[in-house]
Amino acid sequence: MKYKKQKSTRRNINFFRVQCGFREPFRVIIDGNFLHALLEAKLGGPREILPKFLGATTVKPYVTRCVLAELRSLGEDFTGTALAARRIETMRCNHLKPVSPSECLCSLVGENNGDCFFIATQQQELREKLLKVPNVPILFACRTSLNLEPPSEVQKRLCTEREVQQKTVPQHELKAAPLRTLLESAETNSRKRKKVKGVNPLACKKKKADSEPMEVKVQAAEGKQKRKRQRGKHKESGLNADLAAAVEAKPL
Ligand SMILES: [Zn+2]
Repeated sequence: MKYKKQKSTRRNINFFRVQCGFREPFRVIIDGNFLHALLEAKLGGPREILPKFLGATTVKPYVTRCVLAELRSLGEDFTGTALAARRIETMRCNHLKPVSPSECLCSLVGENNGDCFFIATQQQELREKLLKVPNVPILFACRTSLNLEPPSEVQKRLCTEREVQQKTVPQHELKAAPLRTLLESAETNSRKRKKVKGVNPLACKKKKADSEPMEVKVQAAEGKQKRKRQRGKHKESGLNADLAAAVEAKPL
């Protein structure tokens, strides 16, 4: 069972590596309740457990100022977690006034997680929301180990579409353009290619070389056949030369 889980985790991480371009060091943004769950289950600190779980040599865990603010506001039960969070590197977010961690994490991920963040959270609602965003691997803790959400159907579909675009859109355009623009660009390119296919240079050449009208060719072919047949008939029937000449002189 444990082996099966490891295998599926590795396969899911490979999906994000290959399809979405995730590279080490993996950057994992952690929210307060995930960190609290790690400490409660005594699974170890994020710096120890994350590289082991993700099969990576370098993993950088982060919290945000909004996550720290929430932990401070939760009271004595979360004092230990708040202290542990302060030892983790803080990622800058654009919130001068702290917002809820879920809002903060969503703003960092943006439309398509261009910065390749892993998100570690226990909030079911946030996990469901992020599964609809392309390129977001989601981690959560259970009593005995960590888990990685398998890529959702939406994420798989978006990756497949992106793969199609990479084949049709030039690399420099791909780096600069957002996902929707790329989709449109890919469609336009495919249309253009179809137009090019319509003009077949080989077909043009054939036409030039074969300029004789078809009707003339058919008539010529028929004439040859008829003449041959007539000659054959003359020989078989034994007609004299004059009669054969007269037959040949007949209009076709
Ligand atoms: Zn924030």
